[in-house]
Amino acid sequence: MTDARIHDVVTAPPVQRVPVRGGGRFPVRRIYCVGRNFADHAREMGATAPASKAERGTPVFFMKPADAIVTGEAVPYPSATSDLHHEVELVVAIGADAPAGVLPVAQAQALVFGYTVGLDLTRRDLQAAAKAKGLPWDTAKGFDHSAPIGELVPAADAGPLGARQLELRVNGEVRQHAPLSDLIWDVPEILHELSKLYALRAGDLVFMGTPAGVAALQPGDRFEATLEGIATLRGTIQA
Ligand code: MN
Repeated sequence: MTDARIHDVVTAPPVQRVPVRGGGRFPVRRIYCVGRNFADHAREMGATAPASKAERGTPVFFMKPADAIVTGEAVPYPSATSDLHHEVELVVAIGADAPAGVLPVAQAQALVFGYTVGLDLTRRDLQAAAKAKGLPWDTAKGFDHSAPIGELVPAADAGPLGARQLELRVNGEVRQHAPLSDLIWDVPEILHELSKLYALRAGDLVFMGTPAGVAALQPGDRFEATLEGIATLRGTIQA
């Protein structure tokens, strides 16, 4: 029941929505991100990559605000950095609330609505400074317009992910390229691990981590990210 005496004191912020292939839109609740989920990228960042599944430990998680999503072609170059990096990633969309408690790996796939490709844009200079001081990554990762994302493709239309290739081209040149079979933690495993920490809900997105080849983007750069056979994201970095 609405109480007419209670009113919003500012305009309610809009919900970000991602277009879905075949129709409809996916409203975004939260954006979870996985760090160090490809061994070659962990090594290029100076971290140790696990030698086997048994040595994986626990995944690295961080978040971006839901309104960091960009669905158009124009991505503004952010403030406060001179080293904006691209990280091409598989993005998983959660289509149903998880049951209470820890989500078993075998039940995780049932929560997946669909997939697309996205960029986990990173102020690498701020991240390096934060890492050096043991400080949080928020200003390096969770800034405005830091999550350009493609059209969502329902899982039933996408088919199995298998060893599909994740690729990023900048101005036509391949910067990042790896098969999803290189993921240290696959999608059901990541959802299982996330459910130990958070209640997964319909509307959540998960950026699954990036392979090697991260590098700087400059104003004017054109990027094209692809999740082989499923989704493509094109855009331009604006001055
Ligand atoms: Mn990333």
